[in-house]
Amino acid sequence: MIRLADYRPRSARRGPVHEVRRPRFPVIDAHNHLGAAFGGSWAERPVDELLAVLDEAGVETLVDLDGAAGDRLSAEVERWQARAPQRLVVFAGLDYEAWEADAAFGDTEAARLRDSVARGARGLKVWKTLGLRARDPHGRLVAVDDERLDPLWVTAAELDLPVVIHIADPIAFFQPLDPTNERYEELTEHPDWHFWPTRPAGRPDAPGFPPFDELLAAFDRLVGRHPATTFVGAHVGCAAEDLGLVSRMLDGHPNLFVDIAARVAELGRQPYTARAFVLRHPDRILFGTDAPADGAVYRLHYRFLETSDESFDYSTDEVPGQGRWQVHGLGLPDDVLRAVYRENARRVLRLDRGRGRAVEPPA
Ligand SMILES: [Zn+2]
Repeated sequence: MIRLADYRPRSARRGPVHEVRRPRFPVIDAHNHLGAAFGGSWAERPVDELLAVLDEAGVETLVDLDGAAGDRLSAEVERWQARAPQRLVVFAGLDYEAWEADAAFGDTEAARLRDSVARGARGLKVWKTLGLRARDPHGRLVAVDDERLDPLWVTAAELDLPVVIHIADPIAFFQPLDPTNERYEELTEHPDWHFWPTRPAGRPDAPGFPPFDELLAAFDRLVGRHPATTFVGAHVGCAAEDLGLVSRMLDGHPNLFVDIAARVAELGRQPYTARAFVLRHPDRILFGTDAPADGAVYRLHYRFLETSDESFDYSTDEVPGQGRWQVHGLGLPDDVLRAVYRENARRVLRLDRGRGRAVEPPA
């Protein structure tokens, strides 16, 4: 008898396979990481090599969410965006740890964001640290919709800067690690992704992590309270297992967009619901991978979005990291593909208004 962990079943199903080598339309990868801290290899490789990979994959522009702030941001802008401002876009970040010693952390972050824009940042990335780990000077978790952060969101709107925001994580990460947990193997490998135990619902002062639904409800309130701020909910609005919830949020908030980064596994296991979701919100969904730029990874995404192939691997790894299942293609129509691949991101990144275009030096 083999152990379950060693089981490597291969599908015996015979059926059409449509490899998509090039996307049907140019692509913007609106969620990626080029920073060294994220284990990506690109931080060490020449920018021309990255552009060659993107050319080959039909990717016009890539968004690097790893800009952080201060001198690190300047270095990241210099390394990528300054070399190809139409093709590589760098986002700024926040300094969550500093909040513990700063009662005015919202104003501080707003000022930092202004500085980041002066250094070239073209958006703000907010990590799931907000809501799950970042604490105020009293040692309390800062809620996703904490009013002390309002100056930050208002400043983002004023600067016309999109905010890519990651709240919570897969629902299974907020459930006990027992034999019924659908992400058991992944959580065993990454115990720091397990937000357990959670505190009882409606008890913000009790110990434990906030439950998933409370985090999403706070996110919904935040987006609703700042209609002038453009939010992109990372990973399908941070709730890819509950597309009904994400759909209601999109219906309720015209300032909300979502990206599909790292969620082919989720979308592809519910292809009928996912397809209906995309067709309902064709102008609000952004393409993104959240994976080191690589031809095979891009081709997999193209196959998923463009074809109606059934039961294929969503990952190039031998054991897929987000659960042992396969996915089914969405077979999206051309006009929707064009919007999801490129047009929606162009609006969100203000590329359609000329941002990123080289400024002519004065004569
Ligand atoms: Zn990411």
